[in-house]
Amino acid sequence: MTSFDLTGRSAIVTGASTGLGNGIARALAAAGADILMVDRAPREAGIDEIKGKGVRTVSLLADLSRQESIGEIVSTAIREFGKVDILVNNAGIIRRAPAIDFSEKDWDDVMNINTKAVFFLAQAAARDMMKRKYGKIINIASLLSFQGGIIVPSYAASKGAVAQVTKALANEWAQHGITVNAIAPGYMATNNTKALREDPVRSKAILDRIPAGRWGTPDDLQGAAVFLASAASDYVNGHVLVVDGGWLAR
Ligand code: NAD
Repeated sequence: MTSFDLTGRSAIVTGASTGLGNGIARALAAAGADILMVDRAPREAGIDEIKGKGVRTVSLLADLSRQESIGEIVSTAIREFGKVDILVNNAGIIRRAPAIDFSEKDWDDVMNINTKAVFFLAQAAARDMMKRKYGKIINIASLLSFQGGIIVPSYAASKGAVAQVTKALANEWAQHGITVNAIAPGYMATNNTKALREDPVRSKAILDRIPAGRWGTPDDLQGAAVFLASAASDYVNGHVLVVDGGWLAR
């Protein structure tokens, strides 16, 4: 299974301090990649396990709502590892309020981190990847790339955009040896879904629809992440891979 091996590859993972990004960072490290773990918050978990894998991990505190962070992230990865082979655009936020009351700030904050930063970090990473005609970009989409959700209008808009930007970049950059794919996680137990899991009515309604009968965990994304980060997926491009315990099939 050498096509899944990431030895000698270097990866940037945003939102790597906790949740799905932390699970993805651990998976890429276990497959052999060096990791630049980017987050605006200090690490919650996972670094010791990654260090045990014999790969290098570097942490960078950066706020993706600031455009200046984009260049800093890519230049740090190049300074530390010499190149960027893999970018996982994972960091994201959600704001919940009825559409009729939704504020401009909740619209702009979500769109800036979930969509604008995804595009411009991909652009900055691709400029380095093109030099070697090799790169793997993975954007984290959502079930709300396909569905409208409930009281999360800017989140649904931002994740619909992530799916479309993924395809747009795949079309342009395949000729440069870069694949651009997305993972659409289902309902996963992280800070992002704490409010939903604590609401007994919503929590039951969600669980009732998941054929797997449970919330997903960060570990559930590991296989998809390593696949899309590795040579095993070289002919997969512009795809949104749903990892949802069967939710969309119902
Ligand atoms: P989380 O809230 O547990 O983790 C998100 C991480 O991103 C945090 O470490 C946070 O500090 C970081 N982050 C947020 N804003 C940032 C910024 N401006 N700059 C730098 N870092 C920032 O959430 P999660 O569930 O792990 O979500 C990860 C991704 O998966 C997000 O894009 C989210 O939309 C997506 N997603 C989550 C679910 C789910 O059910 N949890 C489902 C579908 C998609």
